[in-house]
Amino acid sequence: MQMQVIKNAKVINEQGQLEDGHIVIQNGQIQAIESNAAHLPEPKDNVHVIDAEGKLVTPGFIDMHVHLREPGYEHKETIESGSRSAVKGGFTTIACMPNTRPITDSPETVKVVLNKASEANLAKVLPYAAITKNELGRELTDFEALKAAGAIGFTDDGVGVQNAQMMKDAMNKAKALGMPVIAHCEDDSLVKGACVTEGKFAERHGLKGIPNESEAIHVGRDILLTEATGVHYHVCHVSTEQSVRLIRQAKAIGISVTAEVCPHHLVLSDEDIPGLDANWKMNPPLRSPRDVEACIEGLLDGTLDMIVTDHAPHSEEEKAKGMELAPFGIVGFETAFPLLYTKFVATGQWDLATLVQRMTSDPARVFGLDSGVLKAGAAADLTMIDLEAEKEVNPAEFATKGRNTPFTGWKLKGWPVMTWVDGDLKWSEADGF
Ligand SMILES: [Zn+2]
Repeated sequence: MQMQVIKNAKVINEQGQLEDGHIVIQNGQIQAIESNAAHLPEPKDNVHVIDAEGKLVTPGFIDMHVHLREPGYEHKETIESGSRSAVKGGFTTIACMPNTRPITDSPETVKVVLNKASEANLAKVLPYAAITKNELGRELTDFEALKAAGAIGFTDDGVGVQNAQMMKDAMNKAKALGMPVIAHCEDDSLVKGACVTEGKFAERHGLKGIPNESEAIHVGRDILLTEATGVHYHVCHVSTEQSVRLIRQAKAIGISVTAEVCPHHLVLSDEDIPGLDANWKMNPPLRSPRDVEACIEGLLDGTLDMIVTDHAPHSEEEKAKGMELAPFGIVGFETAFPLLYTKFVATGQWDLATLVQRMTSDPARVFGLDSGVLKAGAAADLTMIDLEAEKEVNPAEFATKGRNTPFTGWKLKGWPVMTWVDGDLKWSEADGF
């Protein structure tokens, strides 16, 4: 394979500072990060040189919670369209949820997902398999066969596992196989068909609210089950102050829990919802400003290990049904980094290094991936970002089929401009895919 050099980049060093770097890539791996241009290989025919012109180059982003909708809901998204959206957003590894049609609860469906992903040949797609058959919470799937087919963990995302014994059985089986259990935490008995969080917005509009404890009660239950089983337990899309508190306490006493948080739960509260527009409807819902603060604090102190998008495309017809009837979820790949960069890094509240770690090395560490770091020997999964470029979010330009975002018209900085997977340039702002 041809050697490539990305020269004149800015990279984040081990101290978290920006420095000049030239990245040498060969055989799909990072061969070296040179700080001195004089040490670069001679520009010959077999060396392809890309000039970053001072732009930031980070490890490719890793998103451990996404919905690609295929098989079964191809009108919302396909593995190919979702993967395009991912690389356009700077993501090089994405882990897809099993609530497709059929549900990914059999080795055959795991293989369908993996085959479609390799046909698309864009991002690395890691499939999760369901904990229970059809995600109905009644009978465990065949964990061993699903692992052998390529599943990387077990989750009934979209719904919570309601029965504690079922969850404990799942944890014991997963533990024996060295696999993680990833939990959508939601107690159905406390939700009862509500569509937004309990609180001011719900009251103003006469809507039933989803209380914070519907999430936290599962987090608390599952932490105790994790203590009993010793499994690696990972909490999906944390949205409440109570969940953050429980996870922080559990980590402090050495329970093997990790957790993720979504950009929208860091940036928006229920007080920001402009009206009954279902582009502001997601599960978990936007919570109170106090919950937002707790999630930010949790992310910064490492209680919440990583940022995930929960990319959840739906068709415009589905989202037009209104706040109560439309399905939950918003798209996330193409706005995640610019949104968080603009809101938190450009304003001086967070270090750039912290944001990048939570989207790269932290998910890689938690899930044991060989990417997410800029060092010799790592996969050459890379994202180049123009931190100065400013533009408005325009859903008509998205690569995803979904247009369901609350961020339309937001002016953001820090847009990805090139994405490599295993050293292959998959997308560039200038030339597309
Ligand atoms: Zn979920």
